[in-house]
Amino acid sequence: MNIRKLALVTGSTSGIGLEVARVLAANGLEVVLHGLEPDATGAQLADEFEQAYGRRPLYCQADLSQPQEIDRLMQTVTEQVGSPTILVNNAGIQHTAPAEQFPPAMWDKVIAINLSAAFHTSRLALPGMQAQGWGRIINISSVHGLVASVNKSAYCAAKHGLVGFTRVMALENAARGITANCICPGWVDTPLLVEQFKAYAQEHDTSFEAAKQGLISAKTPYPDFVAPSEIGAMTLFLCSDAARAINGTALPIDGGWTAQ
Ligand code: NAD
Repeated sequence: MNIRKLALVTGSTSGIGLEVARVLAANGLEVVLHGLEPDATGAQLADEFEQAYGRRPLYCQADLSQPQEIDRLMQTVTEQVGSPTILVNNAGIQHTAPAEQFPPAMWDKVIAINLSAAFHTSRLALPGMQAQGWGRIINISSVHGLVASVNKSAYCAAKHGLVGFTRVMALENAARGITANCICPGWVDTPLLVEQFKAYAQEHDTSFEAAKQGLISAKTPYPDFVAPSEIGAMTLFLCSDAARAINGTALPIDGGWTAQ
C-alpha cells in the first residue's frame, strides 16, 4: 500500500519541533508547520524549508490553549493539504513555582497546551489515520513524564498525563496500523529553558553559561544537552516501517537522567 506520510508538527517554529520538522522534511516526508507566531514568521520558515528540502510546507498559526483554535487548525490542514497521517504533538510551555505559589490560571494553561491539546489533535486526526490504515502519533513528553522535579507540578502532571493518554491511544488503535508513543527528552538547549538558566545563575551567583552546565550536572550523568536533531532522528525512526511494533512506549533520550 502506498502510504502518504504527511506530518503535522505542533510548535515547529522553535526548538525541538523545528528540528523535528527539518529532519522529517530532509528525509522526504511532507510536513505542516505550526506555532503561535504570526503568518509572516511562518512564511519565512516555509521559504527556508522550500529552499532546503524542495517542498514548501503549509504554516498554520493557532493557539493550542483554545480547543476551538485546534478545531480550526485541523480543519485548515485537512482542507489545504490533507489529513495528517503523522501527528507530532510537540508544542509546550513551562512554568516553575512551588504548588502553593503556582498561579491557578498558569496551571490550567500548562495542562491545556501540554496535555489537552494532544487529546484534541489526536481525536481530530485519528479518523484520517484509521481510513488510511496507517498512522503515527508521537507525543513529545519529557523525563518529567517519568520522574519528578521540584517546582514543576503542572508540567509533571501534564507530561505524566501525556504518557498515560499515549498508552490508551496505542491500545485503541493497535490493530489499525497506527502506533502512539512518547519521546521523553532530558535537557535540550531551547528557549523553553531560558528562565530556568536565568534563575539558576541568579541563585548560584554565576554566569548564564555556567548555569547551563550546573543544571545539566544536577540531573544527568552525561555532561551535555540532548540535541534537537537527536529527537528528530528518533521521530523519523518511529515513522518508519521498522518501528511498526513499537507502541505505547515512553522512550527516554535523556543522557541517563532516568537511569538513576
Ligand atoms: P520552545 O519554547 O523552543 O518551543 C515551543 C513551541 O511551542 C513553539 O513553536 C511555540 O510557538 C509553541 N507554543 C507555545 N505555546 C503555544 C500555544 N499556546 N499554542 C500553540 N503553540 C504554542 O520549546 P522546546 O524546548 O522546543 O519544547 C518543545 C517540547 O519539548 C515541549 O513540549 C517541551 O515540554 C518538550 N521538552 C523540552 C525539553 C527541553 O529541555 N527543552 C525537555 C523535555 C521536553
